Amino acid sequence: MIGVLALQGDVREHLAALTGAGAEARSVRRPEELAVVEGLVVPGGESTTIFKLARIFDLLEPLRERVRSGMPAYGSCAGMIMLADKILDPRSGQETVGGIDMIVRRNAFGRQNESFEAAVDMAGVDGGPVEGVFIRAPWVESTGAGVEVLASVEGHPVAVRQGSLLATSFHPELTGDHRVHRLFTEMVLSARPQR
Ligand code: GLN
Repeated sequence: MIGVLALQGDVREHLAALTGAGAEARSVRRPEELAVVEGLVVPGGESTTIFKLARIFDLLEPLRERVRSGMPAYGSCAGMIMLADKILDPRSGQETVGGIDMIVRRNAFGRQNESFEAAVDMAGVDGGPVEGVFIRAPWVESTGAGVEVLASVEGHPVAVRQGSLLATSFHPELTGDHRVHRLFTEMVLSARPQR
């Protein structure tokens, strides 16, 4: 069972994409719900709001704890920001869950380019480029040695993986193409304890 963090953002779209990718999915809003999922999607939305609500709902530490102990997680857009170890110039005490050794720049593509679509060639996703929907998207400013860059746009990483953590600046959950969610589902399956 894969959870979708349901504090704010495009939760329903991720639930549908996971189901489309063949996974069982449920929303996660409370620590007890987080405790029982095998993997977690952090949706797109507004990372400052997701951070504040996670703190209010006593989810921030449990999230950090589960990511530290190896739970697979996938973040799109605001979710990518939540999985970054660092935000460049964080505003008013915004914190993240962390896990991926990278620095992200929020709203990085600038005013002219606030929202756009681009064909994105993504390592680990076969069958041609994915349609990248970018909405006030972050990019990855820098990465540590353990981080694999899966795709870049205009020279900036927009999809990364570190172990069982995956993040994209764009929103595959909005396109009806479930290949990125299938990749994440496979990551969750391969993290299952072998018996
Ligand atoms: N700009 C948003 C943030 O900084 C992310 C936008 C999105 O998720 N589409 O959190």
